[in-house]
Amino acid sequence: MSTLTPAAFVGHGNPMNALDHNRYTDAWRNFGAAMTTPRAILVVSAHWFINATAVTSMTAPRTIHDFYGFPQPLFEVEYPAPGDPVIAERIVEVVKPTWVGLDEDSWGIDHGTWSVLVHMFPKADVPVLQLSINAELPYDYHFELGAKLHELRKEGVLIVGSGNVVHNLRLADWNQPGVGTDWAHRFDDDVRAIMTDDPSNLGVISGHRDYQLAVPTPDHYLPLAYVAGLASAAGTPTRTLVDGYEMGSLSMTAYELPGD
Ligand code: ZN
Repeated sequence: MSTLTPAAFVGHGNPMNALDHNRYTDAWRNFGAAMTTPRAILVVSAHWFINATAVTSMTAPRTIHDFYGFPQPLFEVEYPAPGDPVIAERIVEVVKPTWVGLDEDSWGIDHGTWSVLVHMFPKADVPVLQLSINAELPYDYHFELGAKLHELRKEGVLIVGSGNVVHNLRLADWNQPGVGTDWAHRFDDDVRAIMTDDPSNLGVISGHRDYQLAVPTPDHYLPLAYVAGLASAAGTPTRTLVDGYEMGSLSMTAYELPGD
């Protein structure tokens, strides 16, 4: 009998969440604390958005501070989790014939990953891998690749998509903490209706009237496609882990795909 490790999509929002303690970070912490320690964590982060599909395979991934203009303490955060080259090879196997390259020295652990994991697994003692988002390919590719990763959940790997369902920085108002515009609410609510019922239908959301406002670029949205694919492969919908809005044009909604 194999058991299924949970999976999640997390709205990571402002990088400062790494240093803050708020109801979002509390939810991430509780999610990590409630589960059996996974064998490894595979994160699909919005911040590794490149023209190829790759998985980190180094033994000691570096902490990447991929942002500007934030307070110095944020640049001093280190997340010294080990990598896991064996799991990286396993990922290459299970997604065949889709091609995934092994990244031995280019990437590491970016802030989309560590701003969440410092709360979810504060000891940094579980191996961490990242899967890049191939910017050249459409939603269906990412959904189907997510579904193939279902196999990893049976092997004790926690899979986390880290982005934001609604992410429009051009329209962000830093003076509006905790606020979402009407269109942000509409889009986030309609995504939630699908994710909590039948995530295999998430593809229809690209026709939503607010899609262009909510998803002006696909980088923060596509990590959700992987979790929708995982949910579809498991035949179970996701549950809302925490929700909320920031700066008018960001949703912080997180979804949990329960294990068994
Ligand atoms: Zn981000």
